[in-house]
Amino acid sequence: MSSEYGGIYDEDDGQFRQELRAQLEEHIEPIVDEADREPLTREEFIEYTGVLRELGIGFEPGIAEQYFGNLERFAVVSEEVSKVWPSLNVALQMSFPSVFVNYAADETQDAMLSKLETGECIGCLAVTEPEGGSDTARPNTVAYKDGDEYVLEGEKTWVGNAPIADIALVVAHDDEADTQDMFLVDQENSPFETETMDKLGWKGVNNGHMYFDGVRIPEDNRLSNIVGNALMDGADMQEIVPFPEAVSQLFFEQKALNATFSFMRTGMSFMAVGIMQAAFDEALDYVHERETFGKPIGENQLVQEKLYDILRDLETSRHLARHALELLSRGDDRARLISSLAKGYTAERSVDATYNALQIHGGEGLKTQNRLERYYRDASVMTIPDGTTEIQKLIVGKELTGLSAY
Ligand SMILES: Cc1cc2nc3c(=O)[nH]c(=O)nc-3n(C[C@H](O)[C@H](O)[C@H](O)COP(=O)(O)OP(=O)(O)OC[C@H]3O[C@@H](n4cnc5c(N)ncnc54)[C@H](O)[C@@H]3O)c2cc1C
Repeated sequence: MSSEYGGIYDEDDGQFRQELRAQLEEHIEPIVDEADREPLTREEFIEYTGVLRELGIGFEPGIAEQYFGNLERFAVVSEEVSKVWPSLNVALQMSFPSVFVNYAADETQDAMLSKLETGECIGCLAVTEPEGGSDTARPNTVAYKDGDEYVLEGEKTWVGNAPIADIALVVAHDDEADTQDMFLVDQENSPFETETMDKLGWKGVNNGHMYFDGVRIPEDNRLSNIVGNALMDGADMQEIVPFPEAVSQLFFEQKALNATFSFMRTGMSFMAVGIMQAAFDEALDYVHERETFGKPIGENQLVQEKLYDILRDLETSRHLARHALELLSRGDDRARLISSLAKGYTAERSVDATYNALQIHGGEGLKTQNRLERYYRDASVMTIPDGTTEIQKLIVGKELTGLSAY
């Protein structure tokens, strides 16, 4: 049985989905169980994302346009890659700040452009701080001006790809302008220290703590300068970050970080759908295979109820994720509200759905050589990054009422 809807993707996306599935089946499926046990090394990141690059998925010039420029594709990638290996999807997505290398300071371009072109410039987005956690609006990390450079002081934590990154986009308080901005730091010219963190799920993602202890970066690497300089040089917004025009507009109308989160939360919602689909597919097979009391366990009403619950969570999540995608694609100002609603909802449903799938497998579900326990661990992580479920509720509340509870 296929629980997926037909007809909601146009023909190109249908073909793209099939090609992506085939590529994942051939290259990722055979290695995922072993590869997910430890955080990705640089070499592994480059090898596995290289498999995707062949299909126009990545951040290199000529490829970023295909990946970002078509949000349907972005959603298909998030769902299909996560069905096989959620960690690979996160590692790929969190590398997006590398697109800014194209318009960064000369020294950053000199060090990074050739790596970017060959898919070897790994990026990360550093927002969260050890002290602040969910409170991302008031960073303690500070960037102060010294001549024509900024000096970065502070710490970040939990940052995906940080220990293997060439480029970090770091949220900091710009001391001179007295406002929050983002700063592109390249590891070659402005070295920073990192430490890998271990965790329950998303084992393949190399999350790390980051230390910025007087790290000096050229003023042209302040994000607002990168964008401003590029526009002054005649580039348009789509060249800088190749989103469809309506999406780029959101970055002008809202805070850049809020628009970035709407994008990432929509991706996370499709990721939750991918994890649930994988768990559902295995559960549906297993109820036919496994026999107890002389009959397949699928003949038991309580087992069928679990299938119902998983499918309900999967399909409601899929619809909500698609709704978020549609609003985001149109640049609708409700994109922030619905992407938060979708991320909060789908993350929680993925925990329930993978738990039910694991329960259907009985003791088999707990064995580390089977995948059910990984689905459950990966789903459990979904409720924290890009804003916890509680924070999504507060964002929705604020968007609805205009009143902030945080
Ligand atoms: C696997 C993983 C990957 C991540 N990747 C990245 C990344 O790439 N880049 C990055 O910058 N960060 C990343 N993060 C950090 C992530 O965004 C934060 O962990 C998250 O925002 C929550 O912060 P915290 O862990 O400090 O929890 P805390 O903020 O300490 O929250 C603890 C608890 O209190 C609740 N809480 C906090 N404040 C409120 C409030 N005002 N009202 C109600 N409840 C509240 C929270 O919901 C939570 O239940 C990642 C985290 C994880 C676990």
